[in-house]
Amino acid sequence: MENTGKYEAVIGLEVHAQLQTRSKLFSGDSTAFGSEPNTQVSAISLAHPGTLPRTNKKAVEYVIKMGLACHCEIERFNYFARKNYFYPDLPKGYQVSQHTTPICKGGYVSIKTAAGKIDVQLNRIHLEEDAGKSIHDLDDDYTCIDLNRAGVPLIEIVTEPCIHSAEEAFLYVTEVRKLVRWLGVCDGNMEEGSLRCDANVSIRLKGEKTLGTKVEVKNLNSIRNVKKAIEYEIERMVHMAEKGETIVQQTRSFDADTDTTFALRDKEEANDYRYFPEPDLTPFKLTEEFINGIKHALPALPEALYQKYLQMELSEYDASQLTDDKATASYFEEVLLHTNNAKAVVNWMTGPLRQMLNEEGASFEQSKVRPAALATVIGMIEAGKLSFSIAASRLLPQMLQNPSVDPAELAINLNLIQVSDTSEIEAWVQQVMEKMPDKVAEYKRGKKGLIGLFMGEVKKLSKGKADPKMTTQLLEERLSK
Ligand code: ADP
Ligand code: MG
Repeated sequence: MENTGKYEAVIGLEVHAQLQTRSKLFSGDSTAFGSEPNTQVSAISLAHPGTLPRTNKKAVEYVIKMGLACHCEIERFNYFARKNYFYPDLPKGYQVSQHTTPICKGGYVSIKTAAGKIDVQLNRIHLEEDAGKSIHDLDDDYTCIDLNRAGVPLIEIVTEPCIHSAEEAFLYVTEVRKLVRWLGVCDGNMEEGSLRCDANVSIRLKGEKTLGTKVEVKNLNSIRNVKKAIEYEIERMVHMAEKGETIVQQTRSFDADTDTTFALRDKEEANDYRYFPEPDLTPFKLTEEFINGIKHALPALPEALYQKYLQMELSEYDASQLTDDKATASYFEEVLLHTNNAKAVVNWMTGPLRQMLNEEGASFEQSKVRPAALATVIGMIEAGKLSFSIAASRLLPQMLQNPSVDPAELAINLNLIQVSDTSEIEAWVQQVMEKMPDKVAEYKRGKKGLIGLFMGEVKKLSKGKADPKMTTQLLEERLSK
């Protein structure tokens, strides 16, 4: 629990997302995850003398995609900068990144908090290359280095210091992960490290305008850890401030076993990265045509669809369920090409169909029940030919078994078609009344609640096929005589 009292927490997040390009940012090396260590490392990725990097156009396209989806301004004139530092997993001795001119500037990502919608302001999104990976737990005496990741394209999404709680940070990272997946630019897999987050945290007295001294918690590898680390930091800092201690600028790490953070190093005065324009790469200019091409190819975004679904009079809950991922939204949109009954589609998609897919571990994309088939079932229910419960419990499993058969035909073959023939239902009603004369008498004396019992009996007799509306009507008619 965060009890900040007279303090306000200030948080800025840096999210690194690995782009799903097939090759690295500046070489043709594969980016496939999980390959034999150090098998995807060419001389270019190592910057051996005589090699020259070339920029991967797909990576540029992807960062612009993300920038447009986040309402950023796109920089037309771009160059890369060398960020020099020494680290064992950085074979070149520098990282190619962007410095003063990120490709995407400003923008925001909207989150829905309990208190309402907040636009989390972005400072920038830039393109850079990843470093290799140091593995400390493979060998007792040595740290092992895998350079397969060195040179894989990353985007770094940096917020302004405008987030004020661990919960907001949690929602923000969740939203960013949803967006990168939606756009197909990153798989968003935090366990495999394709999405990583650094959290910068400070506190200040409420009402204060200047920022407090921050600490940076590095490499948070799950959204839960982002939240836990920030919660812990805020508490730690408030505690220090209350004791009159000075908070020093630090880089910290999170320990997921204890949900605490510990200091890695105190930050020196200023970083000494000696940035300079990358001399081996020519600056690149983006044409309007290129940017417009990307803009026009953008899929409908979750926020826009969410608003559209509210307009269709779906609840906020339904709208957010449908826009949870792109496969779900696309499926919904496709069913709507065949039926206008949006609410019925949602009920199926959040109810029986979802349940069935969960059992198979499948997504809507892989659903064997095709959108058109679902629409057919909904149409049959609307027309009174099928009851929802029979469709869900008996027809749906058969549709999964026989995905190519028309559900209308399946329902007939399985003898599931609802009976709305008056004489047939009347016969069942008659039978029920004859079977329970005492109850009928009680009903006639005023115990109207018994109608449910009679309905249940007709349902049993008809094996659920009696049209319930007609059944009620006929029962009421007969009982009032
Ligand atoms: P650095 O040079 O240390 O990386 P930046 O100014 O580039 O710092 O900011 C990095 C991140 O830290 C951004 O997300 C920014 O919003 C955040 N940030 C900067 N100052 C503070 C602060 N005092 N408190 C919390 N977050 C901050
Ligand atoms: Mg930083």
